[in-house]
Amino acid sequence: MTALLFATSEAVPLVKTGGLADVSGALPQALTQLGHDVRVLLPGYRAVLQTLGSEMRVLAHLDLPPFAPARILGGTLPGGVPLLVLDCPPYFDREGGLYQRDSHHDWPDNHVRFGLLSRAAAVLAGEASPLDWRPDVLHCNDWQIGLAPVYATLPGGRRAATVLTIHNLAYQGIFPPGVLPALGLPWDLFRVDGVEYYGNVSFLKAGVQFADRITTVSPTYAREIQHEPLGFGMQGLLSWRSGDLTGILNGIDTEQWDPAADPLIAARFRATTLPRKELNRKALRERFGLEALESVPVAGVVSRFANQKGLDLLVACAESVLALPMQLAVLGSGDPEIEHAFRGLASKYPGRFGLQVGFDEALSHLVEAGADLFLMPSRFEPCGLNQMYSQRYGTPVVARATGGLVDSVTDGDQAVDGEAPTGFLFTEPTPEALFEAISRAVAAYADRRLWRRMQRAGMARDFSWTRAAGQYAALYQALSGEPGKAT
Ligand code: ADP
Repeated sequence: MTALLFATSEAVPLVKTGGLADVSGALPQALTQLGHDVRVLLPGYRAVLQTLGSEMRVLAHLDLPPFAPARILGGTLPGGVPLLVLDCPPYFDREGGLYQRDSHHDWPDNHVRFGLLSRAAAVLAGEASPLDWRPDVLHCNDWQIGLAPVYATLPGGRRAATVLTIHNLAYQGIFPPGVLPALGLPWDLFRVDGVEYYGNVSFLKAGVQFADRITTVSPTYAREIQHEPLGFGMQGLLSWRSGDLTGILNGIDTEQWDPAADPLIAARFRATTLPRKELNRKALRERFGLEALESVPVAGVVSRFANQKGLDLLVACAESVLALPMQLAVLGSGDPEIEHAFRGLASKYPGRFGLQVGFDEALSHLVEAGADLFLMPSRFEPCGLNQMYSQRYGTPVVARATGGLVDSVTDGDQAVDGEAPTGFLFTEPTPEALFEAISRAVAAYADRRLWRRMQRAGMARDFSWTRAAGQYAALYQALSGEPGKAT
């Protein structure tokens, strides 16, 4: 059993801007269920104080100059995991976003806000902790906790081993060198093998440099970030640390995404009642204004319209796809250019190309349940969730062979030991390659027995957090065998 401090800047259901919050809500809970002694450290944002306020009690006072004085409050996450809240009102108790004052401006004091969070995490993981609980491992997440492994290596006695997980390498926490005094860090750390990063300070780079182990959210993405272009400038350091870098595929919420119990779909079904999926397809067609065409499959998309998601490739080959024949149901929002192109297709092909612009959680469940095929032509995808939801809903996936998509979708060419494929992967980020993969899917769809096998193989996959938590637990276990260096 590992005593673990899981330090994060967001966690569902309290505060969320992205996938990090989902991981922070689910992984500590799954680890607790496996018998580990886990505590989550989270900033005392206004929303956290308002939700948990009266239930929390003061556990300790932290005086860590040059940062403002702070307190550690003790509470419980709604799932039952013990929560440590870093209460520092001048830093966190304010109106506005977690990281941004408004949609265009970061908070100008983000370096001290997350500098303190990192420093507090390191203190709670060390010998000088004011709590009567000591973790074996400090698990840091993204740039916001990137400095914790640096603080943990400063003189101060025995400390916990450190793990840094990169959920999104695109955000690196970059600040000018002048922030160092405000972070209480010595100037001699401003060097290539310290916190310096192309002339600035990067919290994430510092974490990658100093953490005992580094993980990211899929094995393939762990390899891809060691090279251009997906290394976003950090590929050199990441490949230098490749011996300490692993990828662990995220899990999904298998209760919220369960076709046998989902209240958001038209007809619930399981692997033994797959013909009921037809009722969901009917409802999907109605919602998207698609004609009821006999034996024409419907391909679904649920996505942010962003360059990362490769939807321009779909726009470029959509007319050929519709001629296969196939119908398309697209749900999403974002980049106005992609939206404009999709609107053009919807008006040119009414009844064949259905579009819903917006963010609609309930409708996304119906797309997963009602579509025959799900499309994810992403240029890059650290983990990706929709391909896992789709497989659970008996919907084979066409996906680009990148990141977590490679690790969670099995193409016929890779299937081993008689395992049925669950989708169709393509390599080149071109409309031709996407079209070729969709054509293969249409051919497979015509073979009803093969298609059923693919659907059932996807539905039988284990995408639970229990699997992922087991892999993290093995990593912690290996690390506790080599506890952090005494300094
Ligand atoms: P990313 O986090 O890069 O957007 P993921 O596949 O990891 O991609 O997760 C996206 C999540 O957001 C999924 O749960 C997906 O269903 C959901 N989502 C994206 N766009 C929409 C939308 N327009 N409506 C409803 N859900 C959406």
